[in-house]
Amino acid sequence: MPDKIQKSEDEWRKQLSPEQFHVTREHGTERAFSGAHWDQKEPGVYNCICCGQALFSSETKFDSGTGWPSYWDPIAAENVATKSDRSWFTTRTEVHCSRCEGHLGHVFEDGPEPSGLRYCINSASLAFQPGHERSSEEKANSADND
Ligand SMILES: [Zn+2]
Repeated sequence: MPDKIQKSEDEWRKQLSPEQFHVTREHGTERAFSGAHWDQKEPGVYNCICCGQALFSSETKFDSGTGWPSYWDPIAAENVATKSDRSWFTTRTEVHCSRCEGHLGHVFEDGPEPSGLRYCINSASLAFQPGHERSSEEKANSADND
């Protein structure tokens, strides 16, 4: 498992924009069709905006029509973690970065094959890195050093 990253609220506030902070640290949700990545179709990797860990790939991104970036699988199962979220009227499954616990979005069981899952993720939680390469450990580590 990757090392956990823990920072104070103030540290996150300094590093993130107000919207990024709200979504990732306060479990916010950006408005549909408002984010940077819902209509992103270039090949690349989507990294955690907070800690740089690779979370999703363009290879599993699909157009869900919801206005949020949607993926049917994370780039690596251990890079995302889930938790039951009862804060709405129904129980949903919350998705967060396994490394820094930044909130990403939710996962639903109405996605396409082969997984049948739909990871509905906020653009504000993601930093897009164009290119075919998977994000490397160095990338994640360099994010730590700032
Ligand atoms: Zn993270």
